[in-house]
Formats: sequence, C-alpha cells, structure tokens
Amino acid sequence: MQGLPSDTAAEAVDSQQVVQWYDDHCMRTYRRLPVVFVRGEGCYLWDAEGRRYLDLVSGGRAGNALGHGNPKVAEAVSKQIATLPYLSNDFYHYFQGRLAAELAETTNCKRAFFVNSGAEANETAIKLARKWAHQVRGIEKPEIITFFDSFHGRTLGALTATGQPKYQRGFEPLPEGFRYVPFNDAKALEEAITPSTAAVMLEPILGESGIKPAAPEFMQAVRRLCDQNNILLILDEVQTGFGRTGRFWAYEHYGIQPDILTNAKTLGGGLPIGVCLATEEVASAFGPGDHGCTFGGNPICCAAALASLEYVRENNLVENAERVGDILRRRLEEMAVRTQAVAEIRGMGLMIGVDLVRPVAQQAVLKGLEHGLVLTASSEVTLRLLPALVFGETHATEAAWALQNVIYEVGGAP
Ligand SMILES: *Cc1c(COP(=O)(O)O)cnc(C)c1O
Repeated sequence: MQGLPSDTAAEAVDSQQVVQWYDDHCMRTYRRLPVVFVRGEGCYLWDAEGRRYLDLVSGGRAGNALGHGNPKVAEAVSKQIATLPYLSNDFYHYFQGRLAAELAETTNCKRAFFVNSGAEANETAIKLARKWAHQVRGIEKPEIITFFDSFHGRTLGALTATGQPKYQRGFEPLPEGFRYVPFNDAKALEEAITPSTAAVMLEPILGESGIKPAAPEFMQAVRRLCDQNNILLILDEVQTGFGRTGRFWAYEHYGIQPDILTNAKTLGGGLPIGVCLATEEVASAFGPGDHGCTFGGNPICCAAALASLEYVRENNLVENAERVGDILRRRLEEMAVRTQAVAEIRGMGLMIGVDLVRPVAQQAVLKGLEHGLVLTASSEVTLRLLPALVFGETHATEAAWALQNVIYEVGGAP
C-alpha cells in the first residue's frame, strides 16, 4: 500500500482504486454516486481529478451545514484533539456543560443528553418518554404514535418509529409500542389516541420523504391533543433544527413548544454529535444509570458544536437561511417557469423539495455531477436540496441555472 493509510493528499488519491476498495470490502448498504471527493471549501467540493462541484446537500444528508473546512470548527477541533479529545461521562469537562447551557438558551427543553447521531438522539427520546409514562402516568405498555412517511433513524427503536414499511421489511421482529397515522391528519391522530398513548413523535418537516412541511393547523392540533390527553410531544428536529429552516428550531414557525426535542445533523459542524433535549419535568424521569453513551458529549464533539453555534450566531446564519432560502426558491420558481419541468417547490429556509413533472430525479442527480452540481433525490420525482447555512445569493443563482441545464439534458422538460 502506498503511503500511510491515512494519507489523503489529493494528488495521492487514485479514485478507481478507492471505488474498488469500497466494492470489495464495504457492505452493500449504500447506493453511492460515482465520485471520489478529496477536498471542500465552503459550498464547494473538489473530486480526485480536480473538478469543482457546488454542494447542494451539505456534504450529503445535511451532515455539514457550516461549509466545508469551516475555520472556526477546524480551530476548535484541532485545539481539542491536541489537549483532551475524550472523556467519559464519569467526569466533568467544560465543553459539555457549556454546550448544554447554550442549548438551554434556545429552547424550553432545558436538559440535554448527548449522543453521536440522530438515531441515538431519537432512541433517547423514546426511552425517556417510556420511562416518564411508566413513572408519571402508570402506563404498563406505553405507546408512541408516529406518522407514515416519517424518518427517525435506522436503529431498531428509531426504525420502528419510522412509518415506512420499506425500511422495516426483513428486520422483524420489531419492538412493540408504536402506532402510525397519516401526516397532517389531526382527526386520524385524535382517533388513534388511547389511554396507553405516551407520546406523539414527528418531524416538523418530513425530510427524508421529500421536504413536506406540517400544516400550521395540524401542528397546533397535535400540541392541543397532547395537552388534553397528558401526552408528550416529541419533535424530531434532527434535520430541521439548528437554523436550517430560517428559525433556530423549526417549531418556532408554528407557535408551539415540544416536551422532548432531538437534533444532530447540523449540530457538530460536520462532527458526529446528537442531542436529546427535554423539559425539566420530563427529564426528571431519568435518574443515574437509566441511560448512557460512551462517546456521548465528549470534549471534541462538544467543542465542535460550541464552535458551530458561535459561528452561526456571529454570521447570522439563521437569518441567512431564511433570506437565501427565499432567494433560492425564487430562482427555482423562475427556472420552473422557463422549463415547465417543475410540478411543485416546497419547504422552509434552506430545506427545499423540488418535484419534477417527469420521473427523472435520479437521472438528474447523476447528470448533475457532470454539470458540477451535487444533488440528492428522495424519489423518482423529488429533488431534495439542503445547502449549507453559509449558502449565498450567487450560489443560489448558479444552482438554478445549472439545474435548468441538467433538467433539459435528462429530458425533464415536457
Ligand atoms: C437523518 C435523520 C435521522 C437519523 O439520523 P442519523 O444521524 O443518520 O442516525 C433521524 N431523524 C431525522 C428527521 C433525520 O433527518
């Protein structure tokens, strides 16, 4: 093997060799795009052949929303890795404490439990809701109501909360205690509530399923039904939280508050960290020994999250998400008028779903690479745009024109 295994200098990467290693030795769970990236800066990525791409998906799946190579996160992480990267939760350190305190400033959910991913944040939420239901309401078999087309993660609890049989098939037996109703249907929710219902869990905007926002009346009805029946409202803001929608938390658009709140994707500025936040009353159902996570809340990821938070504040990125999100939508709407290839544009802030008239979304993703555009599709017709929170007006214009060319080339225009 040439060089060190960790040698990632762009000139040292043979992209065919890289793809071969994946093909030979990585499990076949992902449909990867045929590109090997070696470097990023802000909203751009470069492949092993030196080509530049405009990244419309924050590194893919919205996992790094502060721009590639963010200087503030880089500095915090470099400093931390050289001094104290890891400590377990048997000890105190500055970064977890400070991060919990900073997050408490943003929400009514004042207590935090830190994990490494969105799925784990939701597992924590599920366990906390169950513990609360046993303790406070004396429910023997607590049930959580979730929604069809939701996405809450791939671990068994989160997978069962996910109301999509296609992800669950083949992994039975699934844990008990979940029930599903149609999204944006308050009447169906009301009818599904029983004395065993402990919680309702939902995304304010269905992310994985194509960026479908909850209707305001629906979200308010969910909160009201929860209040009337002493049921917890769990908001999965793994994708929508931390500024993405033009508010720090997406629930702020709806004039309601959750009892439990989860986040992960944007939190660590590209590092793996997730959090389950809960109100004081609900969080008190957890006591010592009730839950744990070896890497949860470690100094390096918390330092990265603190740097992210500071970067978001210093650069007004929540406002930027709203402003540039509006501009991007406008550019896409203009493109839609020119091409007649778009059926619908949905979303909030920098979370935008584009439904094409023709089922060419997957081809558009592939063709996008040829045009220097990194896209994802959530179905045959839906493109899912999740650019970094540092996305600017010129990026929005560049994206819309490039997407227009892509759509014409894949025969997306009628
Ligand atoms: C991505 C996502 C998850 C799962 O997060 P992982 O970090 O992949 O485990 C859960 N909920 C929502 C809403 C998501 O978008």
